[in-house]
Amino acid sequence: MARQRRIWPISFRTVGTMLERGVIVRVGCARCDTFFDVDLAAIAAKRGPNFNLVDQEIKCKVSRCRGPSYFVAAESRDARLITLIDADVDPLSVNKRGLRPLDLEPPEPPIGAAPADRANPV
Ligand SMILES: [Zn+2]
Repeated sequence: MARQRRIWPISFRTVGTMLERGVIVRVGCARCDTFFDVDLAAIAAKRGPNFNLVDQEIKCKVSRCRGPSYFVAAESRDARLITLIDADVDPLSVNKRGLRPLDLEPPEPPIGAAPADRANPV
């Protein structure tokens, strides 16, 4: 049976367009369910702006875990995350849980603290 390839929004196709359009990217571990911030600028500097995160599998940064981890992306902090895998699978259950970047943020900082602009790291 032929596998249906997904059609990706233009903003998700390269790290360059992700940076230009302020796409929020995280990495999630399918084993321990930890989500990490992603430094898109560092990836673009290392791999070039045309690098594509779809189907890139990396290892979890938790040293005791090292489980399979995948990139997830959303157009904004309150948009649903999409797992960047070119197959109809949901190993992080982000679809099932309807996760948004906002849901992965730490609790609100105390009033008066500088807000961390994690959506648009420079
Ligand atoms: Zn893990």
